Amino acid sequence: MVINNSNGACSKPKLYIVIPCYNEEQVLPITSDLFLKKLNELISQGKISDESRILFVNDGSSDGTWKLIKGYSEANVHFIGISLSRNRGHQNALLAGLLEAMEFCDITISIDCDGQDDINAMDEMIEKYSQGYEVVYGVRSKRADDSFLKKFSAESYYKMLDTVGGVEVIYNHADYRLISKKVLREFANFHEVNLFLRGLIPLVGFPSTVVYYERHGRMAGKSHYPLSKMLALAFDGITSLTIKPIRIIIGFGSLVTFISFLGIVWAVIGFFNGSTVAGWASLICLICFFGGANMLALGIIGEYVGKSYIEVKARPRYIISERTYTETVSEPDS
Ligand code: UDP
Ligand code: MG
Repeated sequence: MVINNSNGACSKPKLYIVIPCYNEEQVLPITSDLFLKKLNELISQGKISDESRILFVNDGSSDGTWKLIKGYSEANVHFIGISLSRNRGHQNALLAGLLEAMEFCDITISIDCDGQDDINAMDEMIEKYSQGYEVVYGVRSKRADDSFLKKFSAESYYKMLDTVGGVEVIYNHADYRLISKKVLREFANFHEVNLFLRGLIPLVGFPSTVVYYERHGRMAGKSHYPLSKMLALAFDGITSLTIKPIRIIIGFGSLVTFISFLGIVWAVIGFFNGSTVAGWASLICLICFFGGANMLALGIIGEYVGKSYIEVKARPRYIISERTYTETVSEPDS
């Protein structure tokens, strides 16, 4: 395959498939074979280099996930793995894998380990890369196997990010994407602790495109994203990328102040005209409403202050405790 990208010579790109895994001992035995089959297929079709690898990131699992990964890497040279010192969450695990892979590969494809994302979309992603695209987003064309709540919450979230947050995200794209080494190099300069990769990658720029695939149900095991975690990620998505909510509060505050000012004028005129205003119920309602609105506004501002506090400390986003290969600047073999 001839690569048109400015970063690629006329050779087959070296692909690293980056897969975060957290307590996935049930699904890994199924999907690791599928990933390997895909990698071998791509190699034999001459689309990628034989030095391509499947890089598992063990995100501090408490079950046998790391043991499985070590076993795979001993059995087949195409499997390698790193293990984080504790659970840091999907986004950080993915970041660890991407930054690790960046040292060795030409392109990365990140994908979940549960078989929900169609691995056959990788062919098209690599094809797009060869056409000169540096980032290729996998976009879900169908979410039939997701629960109604998941589907509804995910879709409303993308819409909200766009309207409330003013954030540029690709609709229905999660973290299944191809990123070239060139983009990763630039992305490595984004040092924020508050990570929301699908909003940050578009900020790096470079030519990008999308490929569509069908999203299926998990092959085994269960989701690690209950509603509470999904809401936390959703909130991080907004607060890590935009201060628009604070602007909305300022706008709302100004409007209320202006209306109150008109109210005062009206009350003063009423006083001199001798008309008295009766009724405390409406007054209480207004007090409660504005009390609530004030607290909400303070909460949102507090959230940003808290996020700044965490960013200022700039603690490491992950710590790699183990690798299935010796840490070296040269190629990891197994
Ligand atoms: N994951 C992770 N760390 C976590 C939670 C999840 O590395 O703390 C991984 C998980 O193993 C999977 C991917 O992130 O490969 C997506 O998680 P999951 O399938 O549970 O989320 P869902 O698809 O239900 O949103
Ligand atoms: Mg999943």
